[in-house]
Amino acid sequence: MGIRERYERVRDEVADVCRQAGRAPSEVRLIAVSKTVDAEGARAAHMAGACDFGENRPDQIVLKSEALPDVRWHFIGNIQSRRIPDIVRSSTLVHSLFNISHARKIDAAAEALSKVQDVLVEVNVSGEESKGGLAPGEVADFVAACAAFEHVRVRGLMTMAPQGDLAEARKCFEGLAAIRAEVGATLDADRAACFDELSMGMSEDWQEAVYAGATMVRIGRAIFSDAFE
Ligand SMILES: *Cc1c(COP(=O)(O)O)cnc(C)c1O
Repeated sequence: MGIRERYERVRDEVADVCRQAGRAPSEVRLIAVSKTVDAEGARAAHMAGACDFGENRPDQIVLKSEALPDVRWHFIGNIQSRRIPDIVRSSTLVHSLFNISHARKIDAAAEALSKVQDVLVEVNVSGEESKGGLAPGEVADFVAACAAFEHVRVRGLMTMAPQGDLAEARKCFEGLAAIRAEVGATLDADRAACFDELSMGMSEDWQEAVYAGATMVRIGRAIFSDAFE
């Protein structure tokens, strides 16, 4: 199988699992994480219908978003201050914000480009030391603090589950959904209405995420690696 066939297969599987979970396929956006392939690889997925792509390195999101400008680019990697202007220039949605000084710099970079940058707040639901993100108890204050930034719009939450145990992954995803609901209830009506995204689930565990309410799944290897068949 090539990228085209794998993309089509994953897209169909996501739609099937949505239906099994009692959800409409249109509720879950499939983000093709193209970090392991070049712009031509991303283009092959685009030819098969992919319109959302994820990258975790600033130089790669700059390069590929210039090669494929008519799709949505999602920044899912570690944010470094000095790369924030590049990230903001290239990204439709930044999934990995959890530092208030980064929020301030994103606000400034977005203002300079006359845009409002949509972001998700990354949450370390499982509490693993190796993972980035806020502790669950820090999310409400962080989201409230972001309201000071006119050029930053918090659209929801993102997490990564512990690897290797689907039951644990499911708990983690359900945890993120619960945090979103709790924090959403603290926001005024306008902000609550757009605080509706849950970015969770990767190649190994996206089915669990769909059942737990994901609105975006971030899938790399199942689309771009022939080792994942
Ligand atoms: C690489 C990556 C993915 C995709 O992972 P796969 O296991 O290849 O599907 C999703 N989210 C983040 C944050 C990543 O870095």
